Amino acid sequence: AQQELARNEKLAAIGALAAGVAHEINNPTAIIRGNTELLLMELSEGAAGREEAEEVKKQTDRISRITGNLLTYARRRNVKDGPPHTLDPVDINHLLDDILVQLPHQVDMTDVTIERDYDMQAPQLSGDAGQLRQVFVNLLLNAVEAMSGKGVLHLSTTVRGDTISVAIADDGPGMKPEHADRIFDPFFTTKKQGTGLGLSVSYGIVQHHGGTITVSTAPEQGTTFTVSLPFDRRQH
Ligand code: ADP
Ligand code: MG
Repeated sequence: AQQELARNEKLAAIGALAAGVAHEINNPTAIIRGNTELLLMELSEGAAGREEAEEVKKQTDRISRITGNLLTYARRRNVKDGPPHTLDPVDINHLLDDILVQLPHQVDMTDVTIERDYDMQAPQLSGDAGQLRQVFVNLLLNAVEAMSGKGVLHLSTTVRGDTISVAIADDGPGMKPEHADRIFDPFFTTKKQGTGLGLSVSYGIVQHHGGTITVSTAPEQGTTFTVSLPFDRRQH
């Protein structure tokens, strides 16, 4: 317990520092992104410098994602439990499709086959739409990164009782048990350029919504993450 306390304090201190830095990085990043958008409007398809400008935009989005995760992580440590701050109606199938349209801007997906298996009867749930989006962006990016941009990504939604489950399955390398045990720990990463925050942030958000997030994985067996979220039957 003593060790746990020390660990928590250390994480809180790291989180606060990281959030401060992330916040400072956000403003110049937004300016770079805005100016790149303007530049792209000036450069027609195939014009000299167009590809480079697109790369600047892509990498700027990546910075935003990292700082966004850091800020959410730090904020969550201060909020602890209680319901999410904003309650928006969220259509999960629609949210997933919307992310799938955006994702190729962040990561190369030309060799990824997407299979969708949605429960069309899935009702809306109420939650923080921005945060839930962040959860599924993190999971989908991890899946594509695990497959090194090549493979089959299977998405399904299922309604059972008062719960909607979203399963995200990839046929990537899977994980060793000793890694799988630690993936929800903040700052745990096996990637050269990882932050190790995607899953810990996602875990917190899902918990905040009264849901669960679980993983099923083994080396060379691929990985499936399942997010289960409750909805209020009375509203439907
Ligand atoms: P990051 O992506 O920055 O490394 P995450 O918290 O998103 O941080 O993920 C933590 C670690 O969990 C990853 O570095 C990776 O080792 C492992 N992981 C997550 N998703 C998958 C997946 N779909 N397949 C294999 N490993 C995964
Ligand atoms: Mg990640």
